[in-house]
Amino acid sequence: MANRPSLSLEFFPPKTLEARDRLQTTAQALTCVAPDYVSVTYGAGGSTREGSLDSVGQMLSVFPSVAPHISCIGASTEQMEELLSLYAEMKIARLVALRGDLPSGYGQGGEFQHAVDLVRFIRARYQNSFHIEVAAYPEIHPQARSAQDDLRFFAEKIQAGADGAITQYFFNSDAYFRFVDDAFALGIDVPIVPGIMPITNFSQLARFSDACGAEIPRWIRQRLAGYGDDVASITAFGQEVITDLCDQLLTAGVPGLHFYTMNRAEPTLAILRGLKLIGA
Ligand SMILES: Cc1cc2nc3c(=O)[nH]c(=O)nc-3n(C[C@H](O)[C@H](O)[C@H](O)COP(=O)(O)OP(=O)(O)OC[C@H]3O[C@@H](n4cnc5c(N)ncnc54)[C@H](O)[C@@H]3O)c2cc1C
Repeated sequence: MANRPSLSLEFFPPKTLEARDRLQTTAQALTCVAPDYVSVTYGAGGSTREGSLDSVGQMLSVFPSVAPHISCIGASTEQMEELLSLYAEMKIARLVALRGDLPSGYGQGGEFQHAVDLVRFIRARYQNSFHIEVAAYPEIHPQARSAQDDLRFFAEKIQAGADGAITQYFFNSDAYFRFVDDAFALGIDVPIVPGIMPITNFSQLARFSDACGAEIPRWIRQRLAGYGDDVASITAFGQEVITDLCDQLLTAGVPGLHFYTMNRAEPTLAILRGLKLIGA
């Protein structure tokens, strides 16, 4: 499709062999999206470095471009160097550079405190070998000292050499538009791609959202809670809400959409069909 916005898909490393097989099926089903790249999370939800490496290899067998996420908190420069060299050998061209979440009980210390340290490290050691994405938070990172500081620290990551950003998911497009405008006012003009979370399961969504600071508007929360165990109604409502959100974002000219697939094909495919970005 001419002038199609960039599309990217995110997966997480599965924990069992059965889930690994299911991920293969999911990935195959999503090849019709022809994503610009797919990304693989790192260390989230208890997954390991080996799990991420395995999933990156698995995704490379399906998609031409894979972007591993790398989180740096608690890692030494030697460990980061080793991982980055491995990715360079695998001909990985794009990375998502993150701080990661602090393990409980973790104090200060470690060679990397914030994602900006990782961006600087990659640029210093590998110059422009990798295209670097970083995370952005239109509804403000939950540990941010203030909205203003969070925005300033986001700008610092771009000034340190990041090429673009992917946002935490949100359901309120005004938060995204405001964030992009404020970033632009600070001189940030790299693509800030909205992260899109399909809605399929209320309790899981509520848990994630509470943890990452994404606000579920009251009307959406109430509607979802009211459906109880009625999965078909949750799915139909969720699809409609997220397709409308994407439509609004695309109409406003966002540079792309990044889907948190949760390792499932159909919720993302249904939204893309609704948007007519893929065939029926
Ligand atoms: C697109 C996306 C992908 C993700 N993938 C993963 C993943 O694969 N694995 C995983 O574990 N987590 C992942 N996360 C979650 C992420 O790791 C957490 O949100 C984490 O708490 C922050 O990571 P960050 O890279 O945004 O950190 P940072 O940019 O370092 O920001 C973290 C906090 O520190 C503050 N801060 C930043 N710089 C400074 C500074 N110089 N001085 C003082 N304060 C500062 C910020 O305001 C913010 O509150 C992802 C999030 C997003 C949006």
